[in-house]
Amino acid sequence: MPRVCVIGSANVDYAVTLPRLPLAGETVSGGTLLVNLGGKGANQAVAARRLGAEVRMIGCVGDDAAGRRIQESLRGAGIFVEGLLASTEAATGTALIMVDSQGRNQIAVAPGANHRLTVEMVTPYAETIAWADVVACQLETPLPVVRWVLEQARRHHVTTILNPAPVQPLDPELLAFVDFLTPNEHEAARLAGSAVDSLESARAAAERLLASGAATVLVTLGERGVLACGGDGAAHFPAFPVDPVDTTAAGDAFNGALAVGLAAGGTLEQAIPLANAAAALACTKRGAQDSLPERAEVEAFLRSLDGAR
Ligand code: ADP
Repeated sequence: MPRVCVIGSANVDYAVTLPRLPLAGETVSGGTLLVNLGGKGANQAVAARRLGAEVRMIGCVGDDAAGRRIQESLRGAGIFVEGLLASTEAATGTALIMVDSQGRNQIAVAPGANHRLTVEMVTPYAETIAWADVVACQLETPLPVVRWVLEQARRHHVTTILNPAPVQPLDPELLAFVDFLTPNEHEAARLAGSAVDSLESARAAAERLLASGAATVLVTLGERGVLACGGDGAAHFPAFPVDPVDTTAAGDAFNGALAVGLAAGGTLEQAIPLANAAAALACTKRGAQDSLPERAEVEAFLRSLDGAR
């Protein structure tokens, strides 16, 4: 079984659908509450698990009901959560979301316990990193932890994926530990300091990030797929055609599936289509973790595309 270790965030999302969004100081009633589990780390762990990997997650929730709910849910999905620690110093990461009848939203995030994870807390899990074939990180966890994890992974010859979301400046010493950097267009533009609105500009941004130290850069381009850029040139992998309903967690589906494809020993040319297919399917369902596809769905989808050719 491919082995994937995810170091990242786990949140509870409280979403209220309303007739319209409130103005500052205003109360709008008549809403309906939906509680969902999210956080990029947890989403990517679930994505990888549904595609058949053995998954271990490292992160931090609060010592509260929401934190226990997350641990139970991930454990129920078959993910090892011994490294998903509970902090008494902060509440579980929480997102408060308001959505109006036209689908517009306002989101407030309290990262809480996610930001309490320290290098000291994760040091006992160095063996979990060494155990993995692929380690996947994002930026909802403190940067010193991300850096330490990437460095440990490199020391043990474990492949690393960094999904630089939410985007923040990254120094070359950290990027040097990254095998696969997976920004979306907006993140690539911010990291490279140049606009990204076409394949050419994505390639220019990716080349800057290569020069800053990342080994391979995969710029995800939404419905236009992915541009992969490495030492031996660039390749475009188009997205698979679907009727998107909700693109929430498309990036998480992509990163989780990429980790599985690479952990299984696949080449980038094999792993990217798997990731594109999982991400396309995630766009066809509402929600975050609920929309992440199972292995059988992805394989059936890829077969249906082969048949159509
Ligand atoms: P993020 O969700 O992080 O903003 P993107 O929007 O770039 O990232 O989407 C990630 C991946 O999801 C894309 O590379 C692609 O494989 C897939 N994807 C996103 N939108 C669509 C779409 N409309 N149709 C098919 N695939 C999509």
